[in-house]
Amino acid sequence: MKKEDCIFCKIAGGEIPSKTLYEDDRFRVILDLGPAARGHALILPKEHAENLYELPEETAAAVMVLAKRMAAVMRDRLNCDGLNLIQNNGEAAGQTVAHFHMHVIPRYKEDNQKIGWVPRETPPEELEALKEQITFTKTEV
Ligand code: AMP
Ligand code: ZN
Repeated sequence: MKKEDCIFCKIAGGEIPSKTLYEDDRFRVILDLGPAARGHALILPKEHAENLYELPEETAAAVMVLAKRMAAVMRDRLNCDGLNLIQNNGEAAGQTVAHFHMHVIPRYKEDNQKIGWVPRETPPEELEALKEQITFTKTEV
């Protein structure tokens, strides 16, 4: 299903033109208009899902397979030195477009780009409490 007024639904469906690198019945892969590095691409499912929570599991699995294949294309054709997969969910995590997308970002030794976080000091008792809070078993997922 497409969502009215969703720009990525329109791009994925071909209503809005894009620099398309790949398309099949489930996905369109486009170049990001504001790239972090040369060749920064986005995997867009054609079915609307706002984020990872809403994404069907089969689609989630297929996204990772496609990302893996794209990684080889990027390495072979762009000669990149590395690659980031990034996927943001919710405003707090930096999501600006409310249609699931996976960033595939080729990286170069001299790209002067920063993608990362500031490591925080965490006392051992906090780590232990966190472990208790979010340890899960196979039956819970
Ligand atoms: P996020 O912050 O994870 O939601 O990422 C949204 C990404 O979409 C950003 O990297 C934008 O540069 C990119 N973007 C937004 N609009 C377009 C568009 N019309 N075509 C291509 N990329 C877009
Ligand atoms: Zn959408």
